Amino acid sequence: MHHYSFLSLLSGALSRHRRWSPAWRSPKPRKAYDVVIVGAGGHGLATAYYLAKKHGVRNVAVLDKGWLGGGNTGRNTQVTRSNYFWPESAAFYEHSLKLYEGLSHELNFNVMLSQRGILTLAHSHHELENLRRWANAIQVNGIDSELMTREEIKKLEPLINLEARFPVHGGFIQRRGGISRHDAVAWGYARGANALGVDIIQQCEVTGFRQQGERVVGVDTAHGTISAGSVVLSVAGHSTVLAGKLGLRLPVNSMALQAMVSEPIKPCLNTVVVSPTVHVYVSQSDRGELVFGGAADVYTSYAQRGGLPALHQNVAALLELLPAFRQLRMMRQWAGIVDITPDTTPLMGPTPIEGLYINCGWGTGGYKAIPAGGDTMAHTVATGKAHPLIAKFGLDRFVSGALIDEGAAAGVAH
Ligand SMILES: Cc1cc2nc3c(=O)[nH]c(=O)nc-3n(C[C@H](O)[C@H](O)[C@H](O)COP(=O)(O)OP(=O)(O)OC[C@H]3O[C@@H](n4cnc5c(N)ncnc54)[C@H](O)[C@@H]3O)c2cc1C
Repeated sequence: MHHYSFLSLLSGALSRHRRWSPAWRSPKPRKAYDVVIVGAGGHGLATAYYLAKKHGVRNVAVLDKGWLGGGNTGRNTQVTRSNYFWPESAAFYEHSLKLYEGLSHELNFNVMLSQRGILTLAHSHHELENLRRWANAIQVNGIDSELMTREEIKKLEPLINLEARFPVHGGFIQRRGGISRHDAVAWGYARGANALGVDIIQQCEVTGFRQQGERVVGVDTAHGTISAGSVVLSVAGHSTVLAGKLGLRLPVNSMALQAMVSEPIKPCLNTVVVSPTVHVYVSQSDRGELVFGGAADVYTSYAQRGGLPALHQNVAALLELLPAFRQLRMMRQWAGIVDITPDTTPLMGPTPIEGLYINCGWGTGGYKAIPAGGDTMAHTVATGKAHPLIAKFGLDRFVSGALIDEGAAAGVAH
């Protein structure tokens, strides 16, 4: 694998960029692998990378029906943070943020992490009290979080209309939160996994499973049957469809989540701004575009009527909070199919079907979880036992009732 450095860039430039080797191979699938991962999104690729890197399990294939990073990993708004309420979530997402902080170095690939801070606004006295409780819980979990007054918010983000229909009463900020580049995260993990011997096979849809008794022993694909010691499902909004083929019912709802970008403008937003009440979040990309979104389609008041009204609602919310953007034109809008559990906590770990592992339920917030998701799933598959950080994220919590309700910490999008 080409090591990327200043010198390699210089030599690439001098040779008119004709000598770069491809970042990953495009192999034909073998007949059998120790581990087959279905889904080359961030989670599938990171799982493959850590399996090979930390556990020496290199006979691994990652199969995707489309192209790698073409699912929600390549469609999200890149928000990266760890300000969750419950200790289990806080520990997991903080592990992820710490891995993000070293990821460019780890992968020798610039993931463009920008820790510009994530600012959550309160629009009533009651909401501010809730944010105070949330911020305190985060601090107790050992994670950075600060309350902010109206005056401090105005200084940090002068464009916010504090006197909006629901006036801003204050807020809180996680300064280590921010954004990073989603494609780079997928490409970095793919390149790293490939270099360690993992086969990444694109345009290879999994259409069914092979079972022997209670055990899954392979997958049927567009390129034929592939035997597998273990199978990991990492297919986000397609999880219920694939698990259903094995007779496994998942407590997951799949629905569309939209995002959109404006035309580019000069730098004017310093943080990622989130307003759960007005129902919008927005950041400015390195190209100057405003990247914003809101609730999943089903949660907008126009739910019955689907996509376009939801988009309208997101734009209206943005302009309520930041009226200076009224003159901007929108450039693009898109959606991904997100996988939401009733308590908005992911579903990870072994399943009742032997040899089958699941990694889904990320809903609107699984991008920030990619490094920790991959790390903990790799441990789980390699050892056969759930990693301690995800021990409480298993399917059995829907039997025991030990739910981890992170609906509020999901920000606006659930
Ligand atoms: C608009 C939008 C904004 C978002 N914003 C944020 C954000 O700001 N911060 C955040 O943390 N999260 C955000 N998310 C959520 C985040 O993007 C996802 O939770 C995360 O990317 C999930 O990663 P994944 O690897 O599990 O799934 P994906 O990236 O969706 O990968 C799953 C892969 O499985 C493949 N697949 C499906 N079925 C099959 C099959 N039968 N055979 C083979 N392959 C198959 C798909 O092609 C896909 O490539 C957002 C999501 C959306 C849609």
